[in-house]
Amino acid sequence: MDRRKVGIMGGTFDPIHIGHLILGESAYEQFGLEKVLFMPSGNPPHKRERHGASNEERIEMVKRAIAPNHHFELSLAEMHEEGYTYTRLTLRALRAEHPDTDYYFIMGADSILSFDSWNGPQEIADQCILVAAVRDLSSGEFNEAIEHVREKYHADIRRLGSPNLDISSHTIRSYVEEGRSIWYYVPDQVRSYILERGIYRRALDG
Ligand code: ATP
Ligand code: MG
Repeated sequence: MDRRKVGIMGGTFDPIHIGHLILGESAYEQFGLEKVLFMPSGNPPHKRERHGASNEERIEMVKRAIAPNHHFELSLAEMHEEGYTYTRLTLRALRAEHPDTDYYFIMGADSILSFDSWNGPQEIADQCILVAAVRDLSSGEFNEAIEHVREKYHADIRRLGSPNLDISSHTIRSYVEEGRSIWYYVPDQVRSYILERGIYRRALDG
């Protein structure tokens, strides 16, 4: 029987934006995935000092953003009440639960460049197909980073052509804080939720 192909799109999603959504959709299409799991991280080790939306709000924004797309699914696999989440452990748990599935772990450019500093990069590379979104297929810097990961970890790493959208959650948070428009940066259901609840306008030391 053919193995199932499932994408994982992890992130802080504070908030989710069209860069994340287009990346997930590009991977779905290019690799013929059955679905893409949007997996908000609970307490990311590299963002321990974060301020912004609560876990519940980040989850709600992901739900709203992916609702119209039937091959996108919310996964709370990394939403623990306590403890930090690590991709290598998440993959281990998913694979134990779904031995018939190959996981395609989708990464944006910044994640590829920092792969060495992830927790347990070898264990991650051993357990999934790494999907590397490259902004510019001819970019020497990204090609080098991809070759480096392939050689060092014997990784199955594949290039994904996806448009380069110069958008980050950080920019969106600062726009909201400054009262600037975020129309079109996030789906409208996410925009209205942010504005109604006053997310990112609250005291940033709170
Ligand atoms: P922040 O600004 O808070 O760092 P972010 O926009 O970078 O947030 P993350 O949740 O940190 O979003 O990123 C999750 C994943 O999405 C990462 O793999 C990242 O590389 C990718 N990603 C983020 N922004 C984009 C974008 N504009 N286009 C393509 N991929 C993106
Ligand atoms: Mg980031």
